[in-house]
Amino acid sequence: MRRNSGAAGAFLTLKPGREKSLKRRHPWVFAGAIARVEGNPASGDTVELRSSDGEFLAVAAFSPESQIRARVWDWKPRDIDAAFFGQRIAQAARARERLLCGNVTNSARLIHGESDGLPGVIADLFDDTVVVQLLAAGAERWRDAIADALGGLPAPFKVARVYERSDADVRALEGLPPKSGWLRGPPLTRPLIVREHGLQFKAEIESGHKTGYYLDQRDNHLFLKDISADKSVLDCFCYSGGFALHALAGGARSVTAIDSSGPALAAARANAELNNLPEYASKAEWIEADVFQQLRKFRDQARRFDIIVLDPPKLAPTAAHAEKAARAYKDANLLAFKLLNPGGVLMTYSCSGGVSPDLFQKIVAGAALDAGVSARIAAWQHAAADHPVALNFPEGEYLKGLVCHVAA
Ligand code: SAH
Repeated sequence: MRRNSGAAGAFLTLKPGREKSLKRRHPWVFAGAIARVEGNPASGDTVELRSSDGEFLAVAAFSPESQIRARVWDWKPRDIDAAFFGQRIAQAARARERLLCGNVTNSARLIHGESDGLPGVIADLFDDTVVVQLLAAGAERWRDAIADALGGLPAPFKVARVYERSDADVRALEGLPPKSGWLRGPPLTRPLIVREHGLQFKAEIESGHKTGYYLDQRDNHLFLKDISADKSVLDCFCYSGGFALHALAGGARSVTAIDSSGPALAAARANAELNNLPEYASKAEWIEADVFQQLRKFRDQARRFDIIVLDPPKLAPTAAHAEKAARAYKDANLLAFKLLNPGGVLMTYSCSGGVSPDLFQKIVAGAALDAGVSARIAAWQHAAADHPVALNFPEGEYLKGLVCHVAA
């Protein structure tokens, strides 16, 4: 008979004292915390988590190959089934409804993993197309239920198709191979356009980074647009032009954008054309180069900018990489401070989970000191609100940004 925990008779019993983080509702159980596994669960199966004295703690997905051995689906006994995913996904989508109903955008992160109660599940809506990443064994196990729920979201969502981009490196830690392809609906036959603050960007869902467009920088793109009038702007790590195009739309005098990826720069140029503003071409310069080398070149040429954006890729995936990453962040920020005109603005980001906001501020402060500039923090920035951080899951706060005003 099926148990009311929905765990179908599989149990993980923790070592004494190791239930503490679960009682604070942190959704991960590490391998070292587990005393016993009973019931022979397979990868992705639902298991009941119990304290060393047999108390029920949560129902969770079992990841036998990962150091994160279980991820919590729910804190009360319940069946984990298609209806569970239907409810959770509808709830997450409802929280994004207002964003999509206004003029800001037609695209949003619908599911942000643990912070939406769905560990290992990321889903981005681009216009009428959802791109989903299944990054943990439990998410993999429930692919069909998740695809059905996303494909069947009620109005105002108009989901015509669901595409899977489960090709992130973290799948290997779960013993899962990369997997991409159409899950629901007819494949796309036209470009998929993300609208953001009146601009258009093509989402490259099959070949682009992650799910195809970085929705997390939406608010920070707008911040740049608002301060760009008549400024010279340098966008480092520009990808498909999120910051660069907003600077152009904000009336920047000139925009220089750097990325080491040829396809990313081609996409950025195409996006500039898509927005059909002829003056963009004359004001914009697209440079295919390594940012660290290019900034040194600019330093040697004594080039200066009014605003510099630094939005590098994840340099420290975990805290273990933090030291090496810290040197790279410091290097880039130091160079950027040196290239700013007096009174200039540095918008600098870290999307590394392994670098805390506190550490990031220290790195940027050290860079300013070594560059010999005095600067103040004008704003702390974060991922847009459709990338929520659950209070019990601080790891969800991966993107942090500092806007620094350099003294005139
Ligand atoms: N700012 C973008 C997102 C940046 S993603 C936006 O708002 O949408 C990070 C980008 O850094 C990627 O496009 C990647 O190609 C680029 N990149 C990674 N390492 C680099 C390096 N050393 N030099 C230049 N670009 C790099």
